[in-house]
Amino acid sequence: MAFESLSDKLQNIFKNLKSKGRLTETDVKNALKEVKMALLEADVNFKVVKNFVNTVTERAVGTDVLNSLTPGQMVIKIVNEEMVSLMGSEKEELKLRPSNELTIIMMAGLQGAGKTTTAAKLAGKFAAKGRKPLLAACDVYRPAAIEQLKVNGEKLGIPVFSMGSSQKPVDIAKAAVEHAKKNGNNVLIIDTAGRLHIDESMMEELVEVKKNVDVYKTVLVVDAMTGQDAVNVATTFDERIGIDGVILTKLDGDTRGGAALSIRAVTSKPILFGGMGEKLSDLEEFYPDRMASRILG
Ligand code: GDP
Repeated sequence: MAFESLSDKLQNIFKNLKSKGRLTETDVKNALKEVKMALLEADVNFKVVKNFVNTVTERAVGTDVLNSLTPGQMVIKIVNEEMVSLMGSEKEELKLRPSNELTIIMMAGLQGAGKTTTAAKLAGKFAAKGRKPLLAACDVYRPAAIEQLKVNGEKLGIPVFSMGSSQKPVDIAKAAVEHAKKNGNNVLIIDTAGRLHIDESMMEELVEVKKNVDVYKTVLVVDAMTGQDAVNVATTFDERIGIDGVILTKLDGDTRGGAALSIRAVTSKPILFGGMGEKLSDLEEFYPDRMASRILG
């Protein structure tokens, strides 16, 4: 289960707070020190934790809170609110152009993050909303990815454009745009080639695609299980190619929470969806308030 360890720790801290009745400033500060430890152990970015705890402390030691009848509850409410705000407050949509225009979405991410699977999942979502998506197989670096995309496209009844693995991604992407226009597709999702690690030739490939194809949204796919690494990956991709949002995969696994809680605060890019499993239907819109409730238990 995701966030289990963090949720358990936070629940214990809160149980203690609530059991105390009246609270002193020291009680609150001690509890928030424990919250800080729990967040750091969950691999949340150090600066994010520091700001978070400072903000909560400032609000929680305010006289209104300590003098209230249920100070413990009030502190928990503040933690909840600040956690929601950390993840961006409002749910952000992956906006498309109007249906009579072609929206091009470029998927980026490291190998294994779930990019190819997520490209298909996204296409499925758009098809369900009445769009006519086309998937473009530009992951020439991992030959199995092309086959994987075709298999997933078939399962969903969504066409997949491919030119094998010997062409350059940018050329496949350009041809895919022509194909989409000719066939009346109004969403083109480009699955690009990842690498095991951040790699200059990968970034150049992505920049090249963006230069030659009218990409409307660049979506980065990162693996939530990798914690702060996911955050660093997002920062680097944003600096090199510019990203519009993030999809956090494997939120169904025993992820500790670090990526979900840090990525928005560090990169200021929204989390658009969460991957909740390997099935093509396992992609959920990301609601910061629901995620905070899951984490707080
Ligand atoms: P790519 O190299 O980034 O294209 O990654 P893939 O799409 O091939 O995914 C790598 C592995 O992660 C595959 O086994 C996927 O089934 C799995 N995967 C992708 N998204 C999720 C998810 O949200 N949850 C789980 N549990 N597995 C996922």
